[in-house]
Amino acid sequence: MVRVMPKTEPPRKASPASPGLLERLAAGPVICAEGYLFEFERRGYLQAGAFVPEVVLEHPDLVEGLHRDFVHAGSDVVEAFTYYAHRAKLKIVGREKDLARINRAALAIARTVARSTRTLLAGDICNTSIYGPDEPATHKQANKIFDEQIGWAVDAGVDFIVGETYSYGAEAVLALEAIKRSGKPAVITLAIPREGRTREGWSVSDACKRLQDAGADVVGLNCARGPATMLPLLREVRAAVSCHVAALPVPYRTTSGEPTFQSLSDPHGTSPDGRPFPTALDPLLCSRYEIGEFGRAAFELGVRYLGVCCGAGPHHIRSLAEALGRRPPASRYSPDMSKHILFGSDKRLRQANLEYGRRNYR
Ligand SMILES: [Zn+2]
Repeated sequence: MVRVMPKTEPPRKASPASPGLLERLAAGPVICAEGYLFEFERRGYLQAGAFVPEVVLEHPDLVEGLHRDFVHAGSDVVEAFTYYAHRAKLKIVGREKDLARINRAALAIARTVARSTRTLLAGDICNTSIYGPDEPATHKQANKIFDEQIGWAVDAGVDFIVGETYSYGAEAVLALEAIKRSGKPAVITLAIPREGRTREGWSVSDACKRLQDAGADVVGLNCARGPATMLPLLREVRAAVSCHVAALPVPYRTTSGEPTFQSLSDPHGTSPDGRPFPTALDPLLCSRYEIGEFGRAAFELGVRYLGVCCGAGPHHIRSLAEALGRRPPASRYSPDMSKHILFGSDKRLRQANLEYGRRNYR
C-alpha cells in the first residue's frame, strides 16, 4: 500500500541550547546508528541486491519507528535513510523519477524524529557505484549525484552530512568537497576492502590524512569490516590524523583471513551461492557484548564518533552506549538474570526450578 507522506514542518535550525556535532564531540563520544538497509531487508520491506531504500516511500511509519528505536537505544544522531537513494541506484530499479521524492521523504522522517528527541539530524550520501578512477566522465556524474542529494539535505536543515562507504579514496575526496561546498560539517568514512587499502591502493592512514587535509571534520571507517578487523586499522587512522575519528563496523565476526563481511565463508554450507553475504550472515553475527567491547576498545584508542553499520540492531546500539558510560532509555530493560526462572537468584523464585537449572544447564 502506498501511503501519502504527511505534511511536515518547515526546516528549523536546532535551538541554540542544542549543541551541534562538533560541540558534542568536544564534550564526549557521539553515537550514530546505521544499518537501515539490512534491517529493512530482514523485515521484508527492501530487496537485497540493489538495496534501494524504497521503504521510505511505501512505509514511512516503519522508518520513523526504526529511527525512534535507535534513539531509544542510545543513538545521538538520526541519519536520514538516503543511502543508495541516488540517481544511479534508482535507475537500476527503474525508479529514477522518484529521486527527489524519496530523498525529501527520508529527510522529513528523520527530521521529525531528530527534532522531537533533541538528537542531531544527519544527511547521508554514499558511494555512487558508477565511479571509475580513470574515467573523468564518472567523476562528473558522481559530483552531480552528490550535489543533488546534498541540496535536499541542506533544504531539510541537517546539522551535518555523512559521506560513507567509499572504497575509492578519491571518490571520498569528491564527496567531501561536495559537502564542503554546502557549508555543513562533514563526516567521511571509508569501507576498506579485504586487501587493507583503498581500491586505488592508498593506505588507510594516507587516505584519512588526505581527507582531513581536504577539510573533513571527522574521518574514519564504516561498514565492510567487523570489530576484530576494523580495530587495527583504527589505530593507524588515529595516529595519522588530528581531527575526530569515526568507527562504525558491521556486527559480524570477521577474521584476519576473512577481514570483510563480503569475504566471510559459510560455517554451515547453507548459503545459496556459497557466500553468506548479504543474506546468510546470521550465524556470524556479533553479540551485543562483543559490540560493547569494541566500543570500549575504540574509545580507548581515541575514537569519539562511534556506531554500528549493516546488521546492527537496537540491542547492539544500547550495548555500545552502555560501554561508553551512557544509560539510554532502553537501559531500563537491560538484562537482569537474577529474576530468571532457571538461572536467577531472586528469593521469590521457585527453588525446584533453580535446582533443575543448576543440574541440567551447568
Ligand atoms: Zn554497512
